[in-house]
Amino acid sequence: MSGSPLILFVGGHDPSGGAGLQADIETAAAFDCQACSLVTCLTTQDSRDVQALHPQPAAQFARQLDLLLADVQPRAVKIGLLGDAAVARVLADRLTGLKLPVILDPVLAAGGGSPLAGRELVETLRDDLLPLTTLLTPNRYEARRLSGQTQPDRCARSLMNAGCQGVLLTGADESEGERVHNILYHAGGRVEFEWPLLPHSYHGSGCTLASACACQVAQGQALPDAARVAQQFTQQALAGATRPGRGQHLPRRRQTP
Ligand code: PLP
Repeated sequence: MSGSPLILFVGGHDPSGGAGLQADIETAAAFDCQACSLVTCLTTQDSRDVQALHPQPAAQFARQLDLLLADVQPRAVKIGLLGDAAVARVLADRLTGLKLPVILDPVLAAGGGSPLAGRELVETLRDDLLPLTTLLTPNRYEARRLSGQTQPDRCARSLMNAGCQGVLLTGADESEGERVHNILYHAGGRVEFEWPLLPHSYHGSGCTLASACACQVAQGQALPDAARVAQQFTQQALAGATRPGRGQHLPRRRQTP
């Protein structure tokens, strides 16, 4: 499968341009994929941190999702910031039975530190969305919070027991020394990846990685190749990042994967 597959991106809007649906659309363009974008919430934020979430009313979200799914046939769905349990429940309900590859970035906190998900949303992610997920892309903190486990292998096993088919566990949020360790867990086993730790703090790195995974999966790649190419793309985007504001660096996604 190749060409320009259509991907449905479901996530938040980040006006600073680093994360969220803008990261998704820029990544899709770099991978020559088509993007549909469905807003879960607006946000009040700058390149330093998120100050507030403004979820779309769940009924309005449902109406737009139903219209889209009656109209187009995406090859994959990528889910980012949900912001609201009612919106998450609508999404899980509509994705049930569709048999689409789902890439889920469980955004629970901003890089700047602000929490982005409460207990009800975490439960909905775990109970309703994990069973529909092809690849979950948590950082260490998100994996612990979703699984209730502490050790990385146990976190991944628990998340896969909850129903997702693969976990790309990223380590930049808790890296030690000069290297970042990411681990892919999937039906075929466990694959370790190591990358140089880049010097800055970045806004939208997780969105970029998960979106690149979605593009690769939509283009027919198996999880190990998809995860490797997506990480390479993200490393390059971070290596070329710029700092247009006073906060974190923003990835440069205008590149050929
Ligand atoms: N805002 C939106 C809309 C997001 O989707 C995300 C992360 O996915 C963030 C903010 C936080 O981004 P970061 O953790 O890279 O700071």
